[in-house]
Amino acid sequence: MIEEKIFLKTDIEKTMDNYDFLGLKNTLKMSPENIVKKITESGLRGRGGAGFPTGKKWQFALAQESDIKFLICNADEGEPGTFKDRFLLENMPFKVLEGIIIAAYAVKANFGYIYIRGEYAKAIEVFEKTIKDAYHRGLLGKKILGSNFDFELRLVKGAGAYVCGDETSLINSIEGKRGQSRIKPPYPVQKGLFGKPTVVNNVETLSTVAEIMKYEDNVYAKMGTENSKGTKLVSINGDVKLPDVYEIEFGSMTIKDIIELAGGPKDEINFVVPGGLATSILKYDELEVLYTYEDLENNGSSVGSGGMIVVSKKHDLIELLLNVSDFFVKETCGTCFPCREGNRNIKEILLKMKRKGYNDEYKKIIGDLRESIMLAARCGFGQSSVNFIYSIIDKYFYEEVK
Ligand code: NAD
Repeated sequence: MIEEKIFLKTDIEKTMDNYDFLGLKNTLKMSPENIVKKITESGLRGRGGAGFPTGKKWQFALAQESDIKFLICNADEGEPGTFKDRFLLENMPFKVLEGIIIAAYAVKANFGYIYIRGEYAKAIEVFEKTIKDAYHRGLLGKKILGSNFDFELRLVKGAGAYVCGDETSLINSIEGKRGQSRIKPPYPVQKGLFGKPTVVNNVETLSTVAEIMKYEDNVYAKMGTENSKGTKLVSINGDVKLPDVYEIEFGSMTIKDIIELAGGPKDEINFVVPGGLATSILKYDELEVLYTYEDLENNGSSVGSGGMIVVSKKHDLIELLLNVSDFFVKETCGTCFPCREGNRNIKEILLKMKRKGYNDEYKKIIGDLRESIMLAARCGFGQSSVNFIYSIIDKYFYEEVK
């Protein structure tokens, strides 16, 4: 009882008093089909990193006939340089919660999980309180806000494995199994948690859904470019003066502009990682590229998770490569032989490069290993594990390593 009183006095409750849940209220007046249509028309693409169209994922899920469906919010944000989901969980938990409930209603899921990275202690604390309070207010549980929709939400804490951010490893982890990836297809929307249709959406994706549903008009579709609608949260860090989370309208800024927005570089820039370590780098003379999915892809990179790392010339490239390689060697789940052994071999080659200096043979071996891993790895972890390393070696930095 005492604990209850203390809880009711927290900032969470006071803030929730002032949050209108307008997106959810609008949603509950619409049919699931019309919500899926609206999200499809908004052009929203998954903000975890892969950029898969959210509306299409929901269409697949809604079409599944099943006694039980699940909605999972993937908050296992582990991509180095990425902290936009942490920002949302800590500062706007109601918006995330609202997006989760809207998504569940749209695909007819009555059970859900939010899987938060174990290291995000504050986010876990905030969201635990948010869920508890949401039950008190009738936002979770039976007949949400007086409608006929029931939805139960549980929080699961991650245990420190980067690979659990991969949706299939995350599903295994919730089931109490080892965090290892599953082969896709079947995709989770077909056969996911406990073998049932499951939608896995990223934190930022779901917050954006809440925002889209606030407006009768599809304002989101009017922002950005043809292939990159709306806005994206960018967590910019590294050698910039004001590292933080910034919201950028797609197509409105170049990478260089975004760096300026973040206070400008601290030192002379060598390269930029536009979207986390799964993405290829852009050299200092390639920073005029417009911030959109299409422009970054045309330049051999990607929006990825939005974790933008600015790297100045003061860093030793071989040490950086070894640091990143070490990360992938340690974090591979080990299921796929090419990912496990390929990444280990790449580290060996980088160590040789450190001892003996660069030669083209090393580049060829790393290129071949990258191709094998990309073709044979089950999940996004392996498929993208060599992008950063290979792009540095390939572009021109090997001249400096020589
Ligand atoms: P993916 O392309 O395999 O899938 C993206 C999403 O679309 C998944 O939910 C998948 O189930 C769904 N999907 C794809 N094709 C489908 C189909 N035909 N039918 C139904 N659903 C379909 O990518 P992924 O392996 O899920 O993610 C890889 C990305 O994750 C990388 O590009 C990287 O940027 C990112 N990443 C992010 C973090 C982070 O912390 N945010 C960490 C590591 C990696």
